[in-house]
Amino acid sequence: MAEFTMELNDEQKEVRDWIHGFAADVVRPAAAEWDEREETPWPVIQEAAKIGLYSLDFYAQQFFDPTGLGIPMTMEELFWGDAGIALSIVGTGLAAVGVLANGTEEQIGTWVPQMYGDANDVKVAAFCSSEPDAGSDVASMRTRAVYDEAKGEWVLNGTKTWATNGGIANVHVVVAVVDPELGSKGHASFIVPPNTPGLSQGQKFKKHGIRASHTAEVVLEDVRVPGHCLLGGKGKLDERLARAREKAKAGGERVKNAAMATFEASRPAVGAMAVGTARAAYEEALEYATTREQFGRPIIDNQGVAFQLADMRTQIDAARLLVWRASWMATTGKPFTSAEGSMSKLFASETAKKVTAQAIQILGGNGFTREYPVERMHRDAAIYTIFEGTSEIQRLVIARTLSGMPIR
Ligand SMILES: Cc1cc2nc3c(=O)[nH]c(=O)nc-3n(C[C@H](O)[C@H](O)[C@H](O)COP(=O)(O)OP(=O)(O)OC[C@H]3O[C@@H](n4cnc5c(N)ncnc54)[C@H](O)[C@@H]3O)c2cc1C
Repeated sequence: MAEFTMELNDEQKEVRDWIHGFAADVVRPAAAEWDEREETPWPVIQEAAKIGLYSLDFYAQQFFDPTGLGIPMTMEELFWGDAGIALSIVGTGLAAVGVLANGTEEQIGTWVPQMYGDANDVKVAAFCSSEPDAGSDVASMRTRAVYDEAKGEWVLNGTKTWATNGGIANVHVVVAVVDPELGSKGHASFIVPPNTPGLSQGQKFKKHGIRASHTAEVVLEDVRVPGHCLLGGKGKLDERLARAREKAKAGGERVKNAAMATFEASRPAVGAMAVGTARAAYEEALEYATTREQFGRPIIDNQGVAFQLADMRTQIDAARLLVWRASWMATTGKPFTSAEGSMSKLFASETAKKVTAQAIQILGGNGFTREYPVERMHRDAAIYTIFEGTSEIQRLVIARTLSGMPIR
C-alpha cells in the first residue's frame, strides 16, 4: 500500500509535464474552434492516440498507479487545456471503467481495446445509464434486458439519454433492468458490440458548455446481444439477484438509489476535471490582472481584485487536496466513511463554477467575449455540478453518510 504523500514522484512529474505539453500545444489552441463547431474533435483525439495519450495502456497505467494520483493528475492537466476536448479524449474511459469494474478478464481483454481502436483508426466508447425519467433517480430506470433462453441472447429495449459519445461509439456499455422488483439491485450492464442492429442515435444535444464533447440519446429497439455480453457473466448475476431477493424477502436492506450510493470512488476524477478548468481560468485572470492597467496602475494593485485572486487560488488548492485524498483512499481501499469522494466532487465542481465566474469579472468586458477563453471555461464549468451526480445529490450522499439518516 502506498504511503500518502503530497508530492508527485519523479515519474509522475514527467508524465504530468508531458500531458501538460499536449494540453498547452495541441488542446488549448484548438479549443475555441471545436467549441464553436460543436463536434467531436477527431483530429485531436488522433493526435493524442499517436503519442499514446489516448490508449488503454496509458489509462490502465494511471488507473493502477498505487499512489492514486495518476488519474487526478491526468484529468487536471487535460481539462486545464480544454474541458470539451478533454472529455472527448477521456469519455471512453467512463465506459472502460464500467467493464474493468464489472467484467471478466475475457470481457476486459475483448472489449476494452475495441473501445479505443488504434492510432490509425481511433474509436470511442459510451457509457449509457441515464434515461429521460431516470437521472439522479437511477432506480427508476426503464430500459429492460430480457434473456432469450432458446437463443442464449439478451434483448434490450429502451431509450438512454445524455450519453457522452452515444451513437458515435464503437462499443456502448448499457445499464438495463433485469429484475424490476429489485430497484437498482435489479440492474445489470451489457456490452453492445459495434454495428449491432437496433441501436441508433436519437437527438444530439446542443449544449451550454463542453460543446466539443458529443452528447446524445441512444435508442435501443430489440437489440440482441450474445449471452457473453452480460458483464460479469450470468452465473454471477443470478447469484447477486438471489441474494438481493433474499434480503428483500427478509425485509432487510432498504433498496438504495444507486446514484446516491455508488460512484464514491470515481467522483474524485470529476473533481480533478473541475480543478483543471478552475486553474486555467485563475491563471488567465492572474495574468490579465497584472497586465491590464486602469487609473494608471495594474488592476491587481486594487485589493478588491487581488483578494479575489487570493480566494480563487486558495479554493483551487483546497479542492485539489480533497480530490487527492479521495483518490488515494479509493486506490488504497480506505472506506469512505464520510463520503469523501462526494465531498471532493462537490467542492471542486462548485469551486470551478465560482472561480470561472470571478475570472470573467476580473477580465471585465473582455471576459464576457469569446475573444478570451474564460467565457468558454465558465460555460464548461457548469457541467461539473450536474454530471456524475448533481451537487444536491452529493450533499444528500454526504449528509446520509454522516448521519445515517434517510434524509430526503
Ligand atoms: C453533458 C452531459 C454528459 C453526460 N454524460 C453521461 C453519460 O455519459 N452517461 C450517462 O449515463 N449519463 C450522462 N449524463 C447524465 C447526468 O449524469 C445526469 O444529467 C445527472 O445525473 C442528473 O440527472 P438529470 O439531468 O435527469 O437531473 P434530475 O435528476 O432531473 O435533477 C434535476 C434537479 O433536481 C435536483 N434533484 C433531483 N433529486 C433531488 C433530491 N433527491 N434532492 C435534492 N435535489 C434533487 C438535482 O440536483 C437537479 O438540480 C450526462 C449529462 C450531461 C449534461
